[in-house]
Amino acid sequence: MISEKTKVGVIGVGHLGHHHAKHYHFQDDTNLVGVYDTDSNRGEEIAKQYNTKFYNKPSDLMKLCDGISVVTPTESHYNVAKMAIEDFNCHVFIEKPITETIQQADDLIALAKPKNKIIQVGHIERLNPALRVLEQYDLNPKFIEIQRLAPYTVRGTDVPVVLDLMIHDIDILLSLVKSDVKSIHASGVSIITDSVDIANARIRFNNGTVSSITSSRVAKDRVRKIKLFQENLYTTIDLLMEQTEIYSITNDPSLIPGVLKTEPFTQNNTDKHIAYQKPDLEKHDLLGLEIKNFIGSIKGQEKPIVNGVEARNALEVVIKINNMILEDLK
Ligand code: NAD
Repeated sequence: MISEKTKVGVIGVGHLGHHHAKHYHFQDDTNLVGVYDTDSNRGEEIAKQYNTKFYNKPSDLMKLCDGISVVTPTESHYNVAKMAIEDFNCHVFIEKPITETIQQADDLIALAKPKNKIIQVGHIERLNPALRVLEQYDLNPKFIEIQRLAPYTVRGTDVPVVLDLMIHDIDILLSLVKSDVKSIHASGVSIITDSVDIANARIRFNNGTVSSITSSRVAKDRVRKIKLFQENLYTTIDLLMEQTEIYSITNDPSLIPGVLKTEPFTQNNTDKHIAYQKPDLEKHDLLGLEIKNFIGSIKGQEKPIVNGVEARNALEVVIKINNMILEDLK
């Protein structure tokens, strides 16, 4: 247990690492010891902005910290996180995807376990209130449809769309369906980059749940939607708008809290109702919640919302989908 301020550092302060540094800086129980970046100009600029120190070597920063954010490009996640855990006994918060390969993820998990070190991974959507509100429901989805579309930007296009965007939804899917994957079918196309820009995967689980996931980085508007169907329940989740709408089939809508409207219908000579709910959701800065979760986990007060094993399992499915698409395109 750590009672004083938790000492943290950020390795990689580009687009996203900058925000990690900002949240640590503003968090009361956290001391942002410093930052490191291979681009020293960028590192010094961010250090100055948050009144902290730029280190010329990651080891000099890590040796002073309880926890390290790894916000470098994915290709270096493994080496940076390994050094932090193995050489300096640090907890790590690694941005998604956890690593490039399953072997690397397994290595990090095996290193961290005997040292009791936390691996938290930045699958940020899992903190989205539109998704978390469903924790109150008894979910047993039969069919899940997920769509994530984004206008083209150069950022993230060094990897196929499956590893950049679809990985968010695979992680969500695995958290919603508590069953092993039975089969995967996937296809995709290149439109702008040399790698796959649009992908669709159909995943069937051992418990019978079927899902269809589409990801595209060639779209006019941003869309992040999940539709979830189960017996007597239909839910639409808009991750972008942070809104969830729930339609339940019930004999007695008065038994369902927070129903906004009902629509009667008759089925097999029985009077039923479609009850509509749209829970009020509090908006939060999701990265701020992740950072709080990491600090709380270091202090032993909570557990990471997304741990290394879950991130490794999402990566495994994503790599299978990607390989299947590449095979299909040959
Ligand atoms: P970026 O290119 O803007 O920033 C990366 C920074 O790391 C740069 O400043 C670069 O100089 C530095 N760097 C490169 N190699 C380094 C090394 N070995 N050691 C220290 N610094 C190094 O990239 P970004 O968009 O901030 O993405 C960083 C990571 O965050 C990626 O893994 C990406 O997949 C992930 N990401 C996650 C989300 C999310 O939704 N959770 C969103 C965007 C990016």
